[in-house]
Amino acid sequence: MIDLRSDTLTRPSAAMREAMACAAVGDDVYAEDPTIAELESRVAALLGHEAGLFCATGSLANVIGVAQHVGPGQEVLCDAGAHIARAEMGAHGALTGLTMRTWMSPDGRLDVDAVAALLSPDAGPYLVSTACVAVENTHNFSGGTIQPWDSLHAVHALCRDAGVRLHLDGARLWNAHVATGVALAEYGSLFDTVSVCFSKGLGTPVGSVLVGTAEAMGEARVLRKRLGGGWRQAGVLAAGCLYALDHHVNRLASDHAAARAFTDAVRDQLAVTGAEASVADPETNIVVVPTGDRPAAGIVAAAGASGVLLSAVGPRVVRAVTHLDVTTDECAEAGAVLGGLLRRL
Ligand SMILES: *Cc1c(COP(=O)(O)O)cnc(C)c1O
Repeated sequence: MIDLRSDTLTRPSAAMREAMACAAVGDDVYAEDPTIAELESRVAALLGHEAGLFCATGSLANVIGVAQHVGPGQEVLCDAGAHIARAEMGAHGALTGLTMRTWMSPDGRLDVDAVAALLSPDAGPYLVSTACVAVENTHNFSGGTIQPWDSLHAVHALCRDAGVRLHLDGARLWNAHVATGVALAEYGSLFDTVSVCFSKGLGTPVGSVLVGTAEAMGEARVLRKRLGGGWRQAGVLAAGCLYALDHHVNRLASDHAAARAFTDAVRDQLAVTGAEASVADPETNIVVVPTGDRPAAGIVAAAGASGVLLSAVGPRVVRAVTHLDVTTDECAEAGAVLGGLLRRL
């Protein structure tokens, strides 16, 4: 089986497990785990922020991060396809008591005019006030789209002038950084809080880090505990993340090359019918492929029967995600299988 359903499916390598096994640990609720402390300060420094907080999941880091800016009855703005809106089980509304309004961006790319049109700070006693804008980079459900620097800069200026906070869901910020060469700290400098995941392309079994000011991370630590997310000798997990920082960031470039190989193979098959233009160039490690008038679920099932696991991310869209447990050749092979199925529409 060539498993391209997600980059979360990777398993820790022998070397990563070795690093985890040897980690120095302590009770993190007592703030006595040296490996967690090292990870938090290293990620904070990488992103140009004062402090970090190690969390079990990206969803938890996002909920805690956004809650630093938005109180009950206030709103966060994000795009309609954002992970925080679609894939966190309504946690922001259910647990923080905030509301969300969304703008549409079919390709996931930040639309600064759309943000400006929604922005409603200090709305008074009648309308909901905007307290925060959340941006996703790269954009997961749109296919690993990279947010253009100019748009990020423009939304930063917009929010700063309006007194509205800015949160970055940077679960795959590593991929944007490797693809563009923009420093992590440059991205980080535009946001009040940033969450990053280690369990996606970086290949650890568990872990995300939230960064922000030391004061905000102090509050975030309280909220994490309140939500049941305080943990003890989790330095075992943090050690995997430190290993990934040393060994798995720059290699993301090969995941991006594998995504291109997958896309080329799909196109080679579709070229027979002259429909190759329908598959966009992947910007990072995610490829989304429209399935025409065939339901995505049927294509996913047929690909699975041919040894290729994909996921359906819309009624007529399938997704392939490359990662460190698949080779470029396997990705090309998988693309040929998908292209062959689509050609037989
Ligand atoms: C994976 C992901 C998250 C976090 O997911 P968890 O499963 O909670 O770790 C957050 N945002 C984006 C864009 C993601 O892709």
